[in-house]
Amino acid sequence: MGENVLRFTLGDFQCVSISDGVQPIDAVTLPTFFKGSSPGELADALQRHGMAHDHYDLQCNCLLVDTGSERVLIDSGGGPFFDASLGRLVPGLAAVGYGPEDIDFIIITHGHRDHVCGGVAQNGDMIFPNARHVMVRGEWDYWTREADAAALGEEVIEDLRFARECMLAFKDQLQLIEAGDEIAPGIRSIPTPGHTRHHISVAVASGDERLIGVGDTMDLPIHIERTTWHPAWDELPERGIESRRMLLRRAAEEKALIHGFHFPFPGVGYVRAAGAGWRFDPL
Ligand SMILES: [Zn+2]
Repeated sequence: MGENVLRFTLGDFQCVSISDGVQPIDAVTLPTFFKGSSPGELADALQRHGMAHDHYDLQCNCLLVDTGSERVLIDSGGGPFFDASLGRLVPGLAAVGYGPEDIDFIIITHGHRDHVCGGVAQNGDMIFPNARHVMVRGEWDYWTREADAAALGEEVIEDLRFARECMLAFKDQLQLIEAGDEIAPGIRSIPTPGHTRHHISVAVASGDERLIGVGDTMDLPIHIERTTWHPAWDELPERGIESRRMLLRRAAEEKALIHGFHFPFPGVGYVRAAGAGWRFDPL
């Protein structure tokens, strides 16, 4: 099976966007990605973006940043065990010449299972034996201790249980940080709460080139154009909208590439000012 990988450079850094696979989204779930839209507005937006209204294959794009001295992954994907359509990260890395032992850091943007579970084998062993899993302390505490599954609703209980098991499996390789901390030279977290309470994005800088890994502050390019539309499961929707706008403003000003975890593969492109807002210009 051919892997979806795209190499590109950022200053002196080598980057690779790697698809972990796609999650099929059905007609009932698709509109829940765009809470705040009217049916007519959403139909227009989907059509403009070439998306069907009744089915969508949602990408999960991890990003490898090789600084020359450190190899850093942003999110580990979902792994193959909760969803057989995911788990392509390790074969994708192999396709560009990296083994699991080469990875030094895995920065976890937030505690949802399609982002945290890719580093844990079914028996609980570590897939990336030398990697530290880097998470914001508040996010770790919330998902491993505080989150009240019952309050979050029936449909997420299974997700939550699975994500928590994955997180506890890597606790011996955990490095807790505060949002805003530097993780490696040229790689720094950015506090972007909203999708989850302690969601982070990741700023990468080499020479005068910039990239921002936006995680789930925006799931699809439609969210760049319609910044008030948001997934129904955002925990703090108003904060999420503020965080997203802050990143878009910054990306446009810095002429930074962005990398969107759920954007169509490879998820990399520029943010351009458009009218009073922004649009996505894929690489
Ligand atoms: Zn996600």
